[in-house]
Amino acid sequence: VKAELVITRSDVDELLRRLLAEGCRLVAPVRSGTRVVFEEVASVDEIEHHKLNTTLPPKELLFPRTEPVLDFALVAGQLELEGAAPEIRETVLFAVRPCDAAGLEHLATVFSDEPRDQFFVDRWKRTVVIYTACTEPGPGCFCTAVGLGPTSEKGGDLLLVELDADRFLARPVSDKGRELVERHDDLFTGDDSVSFASVAGELETRVKRTESLMGAGPQLCESFADEIWKRVGLACLGCGICAYTCPSCHCFDLVEIGTPERGERLKVWDCCAFGSFTVHASGHNPRADQAARYRQRVLHKLGYFPKRFGASMCVGCGRCVVHCPVGQDIYEVAHTVLRSVQPPAAEPGG
Ligand code: SF4
Ligand code: SF4
Repeated sequence: VKAELVITRSDVDELLRRLLAEGCRLVAPVRSGTRVVFEEVASVDEIEHHKLNTTLPPKELLFPRTEPVLDFALVAGQLELEGAAPEIRETVLFAVRPCDAAGLEHLATVFSDEPRDQFFVDRWKRTVVIYTACTEPGPGCFCTAVGLGPTSEKGGDLLLVELDADRFLARPVSDKGRELVERHDDLFTGDDSVSFASVAGELETRVKRTESLMGAGPQLCESFADEIWKRVGLACLGCGICAYTCPSCHCFDLVEIGTPERGERLKVWDCCAFGSFTVHASGHNPRADQAARYRQRVLHKLGYFPKRFGASMCVGCGRCVVHCPVGQDIYEVAHTVLRSVQPPAAEPGG
């Protein structure tokens, strides 16, 4: 039996203290009023050891809501451009959940593709994700239905799985994770009485919304013109909360502020549920109603992205389900559409 690595809770704190002492930026969940959010901390004592998902995912640490891209100025009739040069520090992202780690990997997939987003790529290269297995799925969660799970490896570097009040099983799942463990190997011990497979299997049983959406992409895409989309999208208000709370939504707009003589170009988050998202300069909008915009959100997550990149863009974190003011539930909607467009099963013997 291969011994699993184990680390005590106090040695996890010691690992984080060492990383802080090395000059790393440490980003972890902290309490902010009634919410738990990811923020830079100066000490391990500031970390909120929460069980449930944070209100917002950690994506804005790598993909800020608003980010300067360049400065422009008209000097003696000539346009001068100067690209932004953000400070990018070695960062340790701690206590991310596996769904959010997978969301970061989806962002990395998109922003590493051409045209590449160099700011994101540089940040991602300098980020180590120490993430924790999910022990308490929330009411909206459905990670296993989209090919992930409470201990999935996508997007993470070092996985910690809580074994009891004092100990975590530690699994490096990337080169960055292996390098981290090797550099601090005095904090980890081998234990052959611990079985990752059995702990992971038990955690998986805690996820309750498990009806699979894997492989559903083609059928969902084929349903594009089906009337069902008018019904399931009717309630959507176009508020954008789903995209702003989603760990994998990555649409942005480029806007200029300032005067025609001098100003700044900014990259700002955008959302396909907004009425202005696809509006043309002529005033024509190819997604003329909210139902068409809502359909786009679901089909991009579960149809178009899997077709292009081979995985569901939705990681099943459940945030949009919990936070949508009118209760739009992407998991329920996708299954409703699938059921509606699937021919009913033939009666046995019929
Ligand atoms: S689905 Fe819900 S959260 Fe998303 S834009 Fe529509 S109303 Fe807002
Ligand atoms: S679409 Fe909803 S459930 Fe899926 S990853 Fe985004 S916020 Fe989470």
